[in-house]
Amino acid sequence: MTALPVLEVERAHVRYDIVTDRVPFRKVNRTLSEPLRWLYRAVVPGQRIQVRAVDGVSLEIAEGETLALVGESGSGKTTLGRAIMQLERVVKGSIKVDGINVREVRGGRARRRLYRTVQMVFQDPRESIDPGLDVESIVAEPLVGLGIEHRKKARRARTIELLHQCGLPASLLGERPGRFSAGELQRVAICRALAPAPKLLVLDEPLSALDLSSQAQVASLLRQLQADLGLAMLLISHDLAATRHIAQRVAVMYFGQIVEVAPTTDLAARLLHPYARALISAVPQLSRLSQTDPRMAIQPSALSPPPGCRFHPRCAEATDRCRREKPKLKQGQLPHPVACHVVHDGA
Ligand code: SF4
Repeated sequence: MTALPVLEVERAHVRYDIVTDRVPFRKVNRTLSEPLRWLYRAVVPGQRIQVRAVDGVSLEIAEGETLALVGESGSGKTTLGRAIMQLERVVKGSIKVDGINVREVRGGRARRRLYRTVQMVFQDPRESIDPGLDVESIVAEPLVGLGIEHRKKARRARTIELLHQCGLPASLLGERPGRFSAGELQRVAICRALAPAPKLLVLDEPLSALDLSSQAQVASLLRQLQADLGLAMLLISHDLAATRHIAQRVAVMYFGQIVEVAPTTDLAARLLHPYARALISAVPQLSRLSQTDPRMAIQPSALSPPPGCRFHPRCAEATDRCRREKPKLKQGQLPHPVACHVVHDGA
């Protein structure tokens, strides 16, 4: 990587505390003596359990580069995207966006500086866009909210420029997006995200709510924007096939950890980790994972992750070592970093 990193994530951890329901009193009523019944009702608390949604993730994205972050739902990829936007709290490690340490951002001014540098596009534009506003108000909203442009005429000129950049006509300015297609709406959402001229875009499943032809158009738009503006992009997706047309590298995430980082050129030949290879074999639909190998139907509980390699209950190549020892993400003799004992031993 030669260009400077716009995003630097170093051993970042995001955890959730979940308080379990205590066993309902009616279920223990008959098994307890009267003093214990009283005690149970008075003092037995719910159990506090910690879920490690993002567990020591490190990655970098350079200026003008797109990194795809792929994995099944629940792997922690969206949580990481939200942590970059300070929508989730990083409890350990660091996330830096163009040098801004997200963990240290506090107060309105610092937050505005962060959101001028990074913007997020969400999965379903129908949920992230207010249908009661016209296109001009939607797209120009960050210019006002982040204190970038207070002059109405200049905001309109910038909005028209953004619409043009995203392949939308200026005639949409006064329209409300209620009757727009999902593809048009996602373009409006991208326009809005581009308004503050950020250096990094976090795209959370930006294609998954679109039909096939809109997917192709938005994918081509993202490629164009990356080339024209030198944007860095984190593309969160469960669809490996879609990401290879947009991203230069892919990071595969499993159970809160990165298990492989590889170039997207000829993904099928290059991915080495057994989980990453299972994802490839399930293309085009991740829902086919359990059909490729019955072990893939096993869904380990996030509340009690398996010891050793977290993938071992689902892995056809697991050894005793895998059940005991957690593999590290490292390159060694391999062409790129992989977290797997067996792949490294065979290299
Ligand atoms: Fe499978 Fe072992 Fe590699 Fe984990 S470390 S992916 S269990 S072979």
